[in-house]
Amino acid sequence: MTSSSTSTHRDSAVTIVSLYPELLGTYGDGGNALVLSRRLEWRGIAVEHLTVDAGAPVPDSADLYLVGGGEDGPQVQATRELERSQGLHRAVDKGAVVLAICAGMQILGHRFPDASGASRDGLGLLDCETVRVDRPRAVGELLTTSAQFTTARGVVDLGPLTGFENHAGRTVPGPTSHVLASVEVGEGNGNGSEGVVTGNVIGTYLHGPALARNPRLADALLGLIVGPEALTSLDDHDVDVLRAERIHAAREHELAPRRSWRDVLRRS
Ligand code: GLN
Repeated sequence: MTSSSTSTHRDSAVTIVSLYPELLGTYGDGGNALVLSRRLEWRGIAVEHLTVDAGAPVPDSADLYLVGGGEDGPQVQATRELERSQGLHRAVDKGAVVLAICAGMQILGHRFPDASGASRDGLGLLDCETVRVDRPRAVGELLTTSAQFTTARGVVDLGPLTGFENHAGRTVPGPTSHVLASVEVGEGNGNGSEGVVTGNVIGTYLHGPALARNPRLADALLGLIVGPEALTSLDDHDVDVLRAERIHAAREHELAPRRSWRDVLRRS
């Protein structure tokens, strides 16, 4: 386990745990920890970031846990390790916030397919189930309608969510979960919705990293821990420019005639 921290005016630092980056670090989701840490530091709020490798015990006392995307094999191994440790289960019982991306979301649900397509038990911390479908892998930009994040304190408006997706599985939200938004461009959960929220556990198919491209989602998660009043406003102008460019690109791509890479190579 490695750890880094910064000083602050608060008595206790906000603790963020990145789980198993060597298994669930394929899609760059490790950047989410950086975004959360910086957005706390810029506001003078202390943060401690821990990285837990597979095989090490998962602490159950952190405020926020990050679970990234990964390939089919490593995601089975990560599930086994998390089931064995039970640290994440205890943390969720105590109200910890969890952001789980793609494979992370799939393994936190009730069931998900392994590399052979066989259904495996997930951790049951998110009310959803992931299935293999007879459709191509979902790869490309993912854009949603204006997202709503429902918390115990009310509904937070997140604006459109933007990112990229790369997954074979499709996720069916269960009756006790909320979704974040409807899909405008891309596939998302696969039924026209994107993301699954059960209590303080949030799953999404958005890579990007998701919080770099959607800072309002980052602040919504931090608000659950430090309270929205502590989150003084930040200058997100550069991110807003990036978001506008990516939202435009996603819509343009959607309108462009679909060509496979084989078509492109044949015509070049
Ligand atoms: N292996 C999973 C799938 O293909 C998750 C992929 C990911 O995390 N991007 O559905």
